[in-house]
Amino acid sequence: MDLTPTLERIAERVRPHLAEGKVAGYIPALARVDPQRFGIAVVSVDGRVSTAGDARVPFSVQSISKVFTLTLALDKVGSELWTRIGREPSGSAFNSIVQLEREGGIPRNPFINAGAIAVTDVLLEGRPPQAVIDEILAFLRRRADDPAVAIDEEVARSEADTGHRNYSLAHFLASFGRLRNPVDSALSVYFHQCALAMTCVQLARAGLFLAAAGHDPLSGERVVAPERARRINALMLTCGHYDASGDVAFRIGLPGKSGVGGGILAVVPKRAAIAVWSPGLNANGNSHAGTIALEMLAAEMGWSVF
Ligand code: GLU
Repeated sequence: MDLTPTLERIAERVRPHLAEGKVAGYIPALARVDPQRFGIAVVSVDGRVSTAGDARVPFSVQSISKVFTLTLALDKVGSELWTRIGREPSGSAFNSIVQLEREGGIPRNPFINAGAIAVTDVLLEGRPPQAVIDEILAFLRRRADDPAVAIDEEVARSEADTGHRNYSLAHFLASFGRLRNPVDSALSVYFHQCALAMTCVQLARAGLFLAAAGHDPLSGERVVAPERARRINALMLTCGHYDASGDVAFRIGLPGKSGVGGGILAVVPKRAAIAVWSPGLNANGNSHAGTIALEMLAAEMGWSVF
């Protein structure tokens, strides 16, 4: 089905909301992004791509990258990962230090910053950071079926220059003996994965395997086993939207992961992957207009996992 007219209508309806969100200011390279940008793309499991607005403009995927590094880490160590990282919503800020200390250096889930840093540590396995960064980039290019996916070095540098909280989280992990590689190596990978620049079309295409029981319906590749795809989706539903994951499950009812760059990847099992981008964030750090657009699309299509 061609969803272009539906998406164009939604893009029009969310326009008044674009000015209501606030662009992430704590990463200087992100603070300069135009808040009037809006893009949305739907890639269906039969390969149809529908778009509206700035769906082919690259943006900083930030925490959405955590879905893909989790996928890679599970591929490497399987369920042993869950001895180092939990699977519960955090109920705290994504960069909370207090909770990590109270819980002995076991991050609540792989999508909060501490959890994602622990995931990069798993991926490192004693290798230099560049090898892991190359692996992540190659994985995203393959999943997006597009060699143009790139890492924005300026954003990565900007995060490294200002990422005091992430340094703190990584040092806390190390102080509990939870990192096997140097703090600087784990953070170098982390800052670079967050600085991946992708378009809505690339991102939705990259997430399509999660809508198709772990198999890429267009290339025919098996990316993960069906039960693993189900579990990644479960984590996205329960932990993918910071401290508003419950509210998003209530309003939208689809597994999703958002990032402070204003992007959201959402999965409609058996049907499609959706990526939406609008840089202005709401109070919970999720894309304000992006969340509204997803809510409209899910309601109009009757898409929900419930
Ligand atoms: N790179 C960002 C940070 O570590 C990611 C935040 C996010 O998108 O949730 O603060």
